[in-house]
Amino acid sequence: MTNVIHVKALAKINLGLDVTGIREDGYHLVRMIMQTIDLFDWVTIRKCSEDGIRLTTNLNFLPTDEHNIAYQAAALLKKDYPQIGGIELRIHKCIPVAAGMAGGSTNAAAVLYGMNKLFRLGIPMHRLMEYGLQLGADVPYCLLRGTALAEGIGEKLTRLDAMPECAILIAKPPVSVSTKLVYQSLDALEEPEHPPIDLQIEDLKAQDLQELSKHMGNVLETVTIPMHPEIAQIKEMMTECGAISSMMSGSGPTVFGIFENESQAYEAKNVIRKSGIAKQVYVTRPINVRRKGDD
Ligand code: ATP
Repeated sequence: MTNVIHVKALAKINLGLDVTGIREDGYHLVRMIMQTIDLFDWVTIRKCSEDGIRLTTNLNFLPTDEHNIAYQAAALLKKDYPQIGGIELRIHKCIPVAAGMAGGSTNAAAVLYGMNKLFRLGIPMHRLMEYGLQLGADVPYCLLRGTALAEGIGEKLTRLDAMPECAILIAKPPVSVSTKLVYQSLDALEEPEHPPIDLQIEDLKAQDLQELSKHMGNVLETVTIPMHPEIAQIKEMMTECGAISSMMSGSGPTVFGIFENESQAYEAKNVIRKSGIAKQVYVTRPINVRRKGDD
């Protein structure tokens, strides 16, 4: 009998992010092109004899109780499936925290996916996604993974053609961004510039990396960049170093650049590291691991 499972919790970037309105309950309506990247946390789930949920991580500033979204995911399944006994969750974080890369959401998705396997619960994928949505708008996408259009509050997912191969440079400046404040500031703007999400869908169909990169756009940059000008500086450094395009992911502050060749991305990484503008800098790539319907 297996007592332990290790799940890769992959990060995402947004190739396009638009906000199209607000729901009556205050949630923002979005149109986002989501892309999984090869940057991940390890989530280990272990059965144990003592009842309850214990969670540890390698980062001492993260909560280890019900304030951790991964803990909440375990508690949600435990409530509905009494056969689940005691569990230990170990999260080894590599994804920058509070960075616009869905770090917490992907941990929650990994816990739902992993517990379903470990305890042989037989929950179909669409049900797991419903559990995910109770935890956060990005969790259903983190279960699905790959290239997708996310609409509604992020939960209405349509698979898209896979992103063409390329190198992606990630750089997170050491500033904290309040997602709530970013969205509130956006609401106060009259005419923000909307990115061409539909063109990006066409570019993916055509497998045209150049056009896809040219059409990248994130409406939230309009408010986050004035708060943190270093985001614009990093974007500029990346394009000077040969990126086809660079953009902020989610509500920021992480910036990513698209490079046709990996060696240029590594050169840009060195330039950014040396400048001291960002400490967390990684070269990665799009990854199109897909979780099929009900596996
Ligand atoms: P998103 O892109 O979905 O907006 P994010 O990448 O901006 O997410 P997270 O890394 O999920 O942000 O962190 C947001 C907050 O959630 C942090 O302040 C952190 O303390 C809290 N948090 C709770 N659980 C986790 C977790 N498992 N991993 C990371 N942060 C967590």
